[in-house]
Amino acid sequence: RFITFEGGEGGGKSTQVRLLQERITALGYEVVVTREPGGSPRGEEIREFILSGRGKPYGPLAEAVLFSAARIDHLRETIVPALERGAFVLCDRFADSTRAYQGVLGDIDVEAINSLERVAVGQNKPSLTLIMDISPEAGLERANVRREQLGGAVDRFEGEGFEFHRKLRQAFLDIAKANPERCRVINAERSREAIAEDIWATVTKHFTL
Ligand code: C5P
Repeated sequence: RFITFEGGEGGGKSTQVRLLQERITALGYEVVVTREPGGSPRGEEIREFILSGRGKPYGPLAEAVLFSAARIDHLRETIVPALERGAFVLCDRFADSTRAYQGVLGDIDVEAINSLERVAVGQNKPSLTLIMDISPEAGLERANVRREQLGGAVDRFEGEGFEFHRKLRQAFLDIAKANPERCRVINAERSREAIAEDIWATVTKHFTL
């Protein structure tokens, strides 16, 4: 009952996590919502360290290692105990984000990423991964809107243009293609409600709810 949400910037992941949480809860199941980087107290410390910019000089390989360490803690403290209780776990980003951001965009050797994933995740793979797919144009626009809403706060990928978003999208689509048993690509350029309906149809079918 482990579901992850993945995709580039501005795909509306956190909104959809919340909407799905409401629908599964309404059926009477326990639902645990969590996120990466972060998700456990120590994991959140690593998130804050890297995303605040204090960990910037580390570069993508060390970042991949640090996010993997955060993931080990997150699995142990939050995800695995919840799954063992029979809860649904909805996680906003997981190992596929490390593969896309640090691996593909950070140009880290795929074997290194595979090894890290084997060590950090092992058998605790998601049962279902929803890839929120948006065009580079829409991704850029939504990232800009978000920046304005945050009052000009500096986003991690501020200044990254079309090419960055194009590569990111392709990285997630490649992950979906390589893992058809668990990945579903969701067209995230529709209304919030239409996306939520699509996700609900996918989830009820996958888990026969
Ligand atoms: O999903 P969310 O917006 O919370 O992610 C926070 C930031 O961290 C985003 O800018 C995202 O692109 C970045 N990130 C990253 N590497 C990861 C996961 C997230 O650079 N493995």
